[in-house]
Amino acid sequence: MELSSRQEQILTIVKENAPITGEHIAEKLSLTRATLRPDLAILTMSGYLDARPRVGYFYTGKSNTQILSDKVKTITVDHYKSRPVVVNESSSVYEAITTMFLEDVGTLFVVDKLATLSGVVSRKDLLRASLGQQSLETIPVGVIMTRMPNITVCHGDDFIIDIAKKLITKQIDGLPIVKKVTHGSGYEVTGRITKTNITSLLVDLANNESI
Ligand code: ADP
Repeated sequence: MELSSRQEQILTIVKENAPITGEHIAEKLSLTRATLRPDLAILTMSGYLDARPRVGYFYTGKSNTQILSDKVKTITVDHYKSRPVVVNESSSVYEAITTMFLEDVGTLFVVDKLATLSGVVSRKDLLRASLGQQSLETIPVGVIMTRMPNITVCHGDDFIIDIAKKLITKQIDGLPIVKKVTHGSGYEVTGRITKTNITSLLVDLANNESI
């Protein structure tokens, strides 16, 4: 995060005088407390300063990298998800390929008759099936998919950094975001998180967007 020159001045004052109240920082800069309030809020929210009620401001001593890394660790899947693209187990491989093109995704989630997650079909699964002798219109995706319980899933409140690690260790492109079904067992698919979502997060961090 780029700090303004006033914010840099505040940091210097706090480093030298901590703990120091907002009032005293304002005095040193010949400004009013009200004028400083937004800067102090930004410095506190972004992790440079610590504010203790009735004591004053402290310098946290965190580097920019530490502040960024603390920030990244708080971001959940719900902030960066996409909508899921789902096909039925009984859909043919041909239909799955068409859906993948029309919906412009690389992974399809497969559901059973009760709309609970039963598997995942990726580009390579479909390519592999296309190499076989059978007609693509007659093979159901249920036959070629990776199936439950071997599906790696995640929840909306999971931290995105943990999902990024899973994508790397499992060598997959995406995960279904799921919720337990209220009646019976299994998962309902509520979203999708992929390497593309994680790339968007990286771009937002670099552009210093508020996340
Ligand atoms: P691609 O096939 O395009 O390389 P992936 O790397 O995502 O795409 O998929 C590799 C294999 O892992 C495929 O067989 C796919 O069915 C399976 N797979 C994909 N996502 C998951 C997941 N979330 N859980 C378990 N297996 C998955």
